[in-house]
Amino acid sequence: MPEKNYHTVVVGGGMAGLTCAAYLAKEDQRVLLIEKNKECGGLVNSFSSDGFHFEAGIRALENAGIIFPMLEELGIEIDVVKSPVSVGIGTEILHIEDINSLTEYQNLLKLIYPESEGEIDHVIKIIRKVMKHMDVLYGIENPNFKDLRRDRSYLLKELLPWLPKFLLTIGKINRMNMPIEPYLEKYVKNASLRDIISQHFFKNTPTFFALSYFSLYLDYFYPRGGVGKLAAAVEKRFLEWGGELERETTIKRVLAHEHRVIDQNNVSYTYENLVWAADLKTFYRITDAEGYSARVRTKFDKTRSRMLEKRGGDSVFTLFVEVDDPLVSFKKIANGHFFYTPSKQGLGETRWSELNKILNSTGELDKTQILSWLDKFLTLNTYEISIPALKDPDLSPEGKTGLIISILVEYDLFRMIADTGWYKEFISEMEDRIIQVLAESVYPMLKDKVLARFSFSPLSYENRVGSSEGAITGWSFQEPVPVIHKIQAANRAVVTPIPSIYQAGQWTYSPAGVPMSILTGKLAARRIINT
Ligand SMILES: Cc1cc2nc3c(=O)[nH]c(=O)nc-3n(C[C@H](O)[C@H](O)[C@H](O)COP(=O)(O)OP(=O)(O)OC[C@H]3O[C@@H](n4cnc5c(N)ncnc54)[C@H](O)[C@@H]3O)c2cc1C
Repeated sequence: MPEKNYHTVVVGGGMAGLTCAAYLAKEDQRVLLIEKNKECGGLVNSFSSDGFHFEAGIRALENAGIIFPMLEELGIEIDVVKSPVSVGIGTEILHIEDINSLTEYQNLLKLIYPESEGEIDHVIKIIRKVMKHMDVLYGIENPNFKDLRRDRSYLLKELLPWLPKFLLTIGKINRMNMPIEPYLEKYVKNASLRDIISQHFFKNTPTFFALSYFSLYLDYFYPRGGVGKLAAAVEKRFLEWGGELERETTIKRVLAHEHRVIDQNNVSYTYENLVWAADLKTFYRITDAEGYSARVRTKFDKTRSRMLEKRGGDSVFTLFVEVDDPLVSFKKIANGHFFYTPSKQGLGETRWSELNKILNSTGELDKTQILSWLDKFLTLNTYEISIPALKDPDLSPEGKTGLIISILVEYDLFRMIADTGWYKEFISEMEDRIIQVLAESVYPMLKDKVLARFSFSPLSYENRVGSSEGAITGWSFQEPVPVIHKIQAANRAVVTPIPSIYQAGQWTYSPAGVPMSILTGKLAARRIINT
């Protein structure tokens, strides 16, 4: 069996693995990054089709006090533009510009739900409070990306004055940890209004995280050329510093005590340190901890059971549409990042209890029942729509426009449909319906100007990045979440029960996303550098 030796092997070339590998390579370590796909980036990925540029995963990035400081530390410059957001319900569309847009959002909601003025005022008041907390939370560059010994000015003028405010805010944030759905029920009796505010969040999203979205709308930026440019820039830096990269290589086994990982071709790679920057359920399934002391094995077994009994979070269905209509037609309607709900009614029981009835039904698959549920689900839902060329005009062919349209969906539905051999037809039904819903509401040009379309389902995400249940941000919010979820404890999130194996990425901390993947990538690298 061929064997290669490294100081550190990093498995998974998403933002977490790339960040970790780059920081290690910067310190002259012999580092190997192993990535399952041809390209790195994982869920931070741009690709092109017929001259249209699309994003496979995240549509725009939030700095969160992390991304820009990381780029600065690694000496990377990327060209970025703001990624302005619009929010629309029915025929009312609001372009978000700054903090004052929150008042316009409040007015928009009152226009649509005049019977719920008091409830709207209350929710907006809470969102305003959350935004203040967010200003503190992300108010300075994250100290993990600063050299506190050398940068005295940052330490004295920014970090020290910020710390007491941060500690006070953390306490307030922790008190807003309950899921958004019951939280809103306490203040909003109007079920449609509740849905419109919350139906584009993952199930059980912690209230603080959910209501911070208005701050995030103001923070979004977009790398020219697509979000994938971020991953490409970090990868380039890693390679320039002498890092090695194995693409199209999937790790199938981890023999922890032998410090060895084995790929799909039975090639072994030995390491002094391993960083697992991919799905943790996979890690616990394929890792053998034999040879360690009883104490380590017991801890490992306990963690393994805790992880394996939990599920990945919500997934998405993403439709890519190539349209024979110029950008200017779309520009008149909304910004390049658009949260749009065609109906003011809200999803109500369609989202969970009606779907669960379908998922729990026994016997033959009732296609008619599923399609009539789908009609409702797609008419009442909230869509996240991205038009890359509205952020960077070079990203679609002259006179044409590419759209990325997605909605949150349940993995189990797609699994069940695939298992019964109905997958292709169902996907096509879904694509038709989404185009019809949006053609009849906000984008009439979709009626007869669609040149091509294709889509990714939760099963595509699962296959592509090996993400359990097609999850796009790690663990579901079903309590207890099996990883660290307190920001003060983030440093511990990267430790596994096995000495010399670390973890990084969206599965290691909750709630996750690109900034936390980058932060945990750096924290794992720091542990290794400091040992
Ligand atoms: C549609 C969509 C919208 C999103 N919106 C946002 C947002 O608004 N804000 C936000 O912060 N986040 C968002 N995210 C989530 C964000 O993109 C991810 O949380 C983040 O990119 C995860 O990075 P990661 O490196 O932890 O994991 P991944 O990107 O999943 O990377 C893991 C890598 O490991 C590789 N891999 C897996 N198994 C193996 C193996 N056995 N051997 C070798 N390689 C392996 C995979 O191919 C992949 O490249 C969104 C995601 C999607 C899909």
